[in-house]
Amino acid sequence: MRKLHKWLSISAVSGLVFFLAACTAPTTEESGAPAEEDKLQVVTTFYPMYDFTKQVALDNADVSILVPSGTDTHGFEPSAKDVAQIQEADVFVYNSEEMETWVPSILESIDTTDVVIVNASEGIELLEGSHAEEEEQDHDHEAEEGHSHEVDPHIWLDPVLAQEEVTNIKEGLIEADSENEALYEENATAFQTELQQLDEEYAAAFETAENPTFVTQHAAFAYLADRYDLHQVAISGLSTDAEPSPSELTEMSNFINTQNVEYIYFGKTTSSAISETLANETNTQLAVLDPIEGVTEADQEAGVDYLQAMRNNLEALKLSIQ
Ligand code: ZN
Repeated sequence: MRKLHKWLSISAVSGLVFFLAACTAPTTEESGAPAEEDKLQVVTTFYPMYDFTKQVALDNADVSILVPSGTDTHGFEPSAKDVAQIQEADVFVYNSEEMETWVPSILESIDTTDVVIVNASEGIELLEGSHAEEEEQDHDHEAEEGHSHEVDPHIWLDPVLAQEEVTNIKEGLIEADSENEALYEENATAFQTELQQLDEEYAAAFETAENPTFVTQHAAFAYLADRYDLHQVAISGLSTDAEPSPSELTEMSNFINTQNVEYIYFGKTTSSAISETLANETNTQLAVLDPIEGVTEADQEAGVDYLQAMRNNLEALKLSIQ
């Protein structure tokens, strides 16, 4: 009896040990190699938000992007999977409610108590969208009343405001992961130094520009133009799906013909059809000016990041402005 009892106890204990081992085995394995899910999980909306966050976090966080490469951010709508990803993240980074217009309703519909929400444009004064020239002249003051201007969300295209967005992102990462505060501070400062260098290159290029006007399909460059005293003339609107009316196109052709415009700029991830039509009509050339709202597969493979895309834009603008 005693023997049997002893045997039963041993088998019970060894059974328990086996059971415990089975339970703890996966976590033992995980702690051996740093598991992805142990890293800070950061979800970002579109490319500049992703790149800015990567520059601050480096390998310290697992940073993902919602808008797929080659697609246009303006028309993006998150899938149920994207929403779940935001819900499960430690940090969620977006540019502004005027760009990612779907953000407010998503944030209302999910539990964000464990998610640090970073509005990267917080504290930055946003510009009102510019209307086509002739439209402004047609509006009398009364007609203007009650008319709500669209707010321009394209702040990342100004290397100075980009630095402020980096600061906001850094603060969000620190809030979620204060243990690594020093690292985030250091990385943010290093990237902001590069953005300052970019700012200096732009300022130097256009310091003595005599006719600083450029014609772009998408009205994405108002902040950039403001920063360097350039004049953006836009064919379409603030959103990439805002198309000009036939009368606006005629107006634009006349402008191009009378102002000696040589180049019409279009974006990489949007249709260039309107620009092509205008270029044919006015005998001007087409060039790329990238609003960096979605990175193409080719650029991704070539390792074109925000800084490189902005330097490409600088070279493109130099074609028109000297
Ligand atoms: Zn845009």
